[in-house]
Amino acid sequence: MVRELREALDDHQFEVLYQPQVHLETSTVTGYEALLRWRHPLRGVIEPQDFMRSAELSGLIIPIGLQTLDLICAHISHWDDQLNIAVNFSPRQLSTDNAAREIIDTLDRSGTPHNKVIVEVTELGVVGQNAAATLATLHKEGIRIALDDFGAGFASFAALSELPLDILKVDQSLTWALSDAQHSSERAFIVMESIAAIADKLGMESIAEGVETAEQAAAVTRAGCTTGQGYYFGKPLPADAHTTAVQEPPLAVASPAQHRRWR
Ligand code: C2E
Ligand code: MG
Ligand code: MG
Ligand code: MG
Repeated sequence: MVRELREALDDHQFEVLYQPQVHLETSTVTGYEALLRWRHPLRGVIEPQDFMRSAELSGLIIPIGLQTLDLICAHISHWDDQLNIAVNFSPRQLSTDNAAREIIDTLDRSGTPHNKVIVEVTELGVVGQNAAATLATLHKEGIRIALDDFGAGFASFAALSELPLDILKVDQSLTWALSDAQHSSERAFIVMESIAAIADKLGMESIAEGVETAEQAAAVTRAGCTTGQGYYFGKPLPADAHTTAVQEPPLAVASPAQHRRWR
């Protein structure tokens, strides 16, 4: 796997898909999250869950992350000026000594404005000081920071007061609980509402992840989340995908190349 990942880097086999993030009150696309895919010459498209661990353990996540960021910068140079781009970074990459410098240099080489970029991080609990210092530097440079998968795994409450966070992404398991008939969706709603309130009080945006149905979209809106993301609004698609490739109603349009208002 590690040998193949190295080849993948050399041969530029990594690709990026983009999933829309939608401001719930106005139904506008605020930007897209970049999601990595590995187009293996024999095995086809491989998802992050099937190679990220090897990439992290081998340290190859660092060059892969930078190559991916380069690709993303090239894509978004053609987009509408108002669109944000959210990029995932592994804790391992953020922990290296020159991570902040390398990220900023990559943005600056392509002339990407810092205020368009959101860095998504998770599992900070197990990473520690180096990654926190990287985030502080990036934040000072005008890059926004999002805490990913909040409410699941290692994304902890402590991070909320300790890190320079701008956006709270609520884990999809909490969104799905809102429409889970088996368990109490009322309790799930109170949890979601409380998280959105914490984000709001801290001056942060709250993004509900994994919104798959109209019912969930309505519930996260009622709970006070500012933004939604999930298959209901649009699946991850290539940068140049056309609207016709997007799932038909309830809401169409998800391609960054064809950005426009919902409804
Ligand atoms: P994440 O950052 O939390 O991204 C959300 C994941 O949920 C994505 O999976 C996305 O395709 C999926 N998703 C979005 N909406 C829905 C929905 O409505 N229903 C369901 N069931 N799933 C939905 P994906 O693309 O497989 O990525 C998985 C994880 O891999 C990401 O979780 C992120 O942690 C990591 N990842 C992705 N791209 C990169 C990257 O460029 N660098 C690094 N370091 N990690 C990445
Ligand atoms: Mg997946
Ligand atoms: Mg993410
Ligand atoms: Mg997430």
